[in-house]
Amino acid sequence: MATCPRCKGHLTEGHRCPRRQSLVAAEIIACAIGGGLVAWLTLIGFDPHGQVTDMDAVSFIAGALVAVGINRALRS
Ligand SMILES: [Zn+2]
Repeated sequence: MATCPRCKGHLTEGHRCPRRQSLVAAEIIACAIGGGLVAWLTLIGFDPHGQVTDMDAVSFIAGALVAVGINRALRS
């Protein structure tokens, strides 16, 4: 089977070179931070007095994971 001159992958029909690893990693990190911030700001919106401060990190991480999951699902 022919190999792609750029990424050395199998040159199948409809082959597209995978994007560079560093770019993918940067995108995932940006996505995680964005998702985490959105979830955190949403929590603050529902809790303006900061009564559930313990949830800060949890909401941020949950938002980050969801955002990354959506990003991965859309890319694959
Ligand atoms: Zn390729």
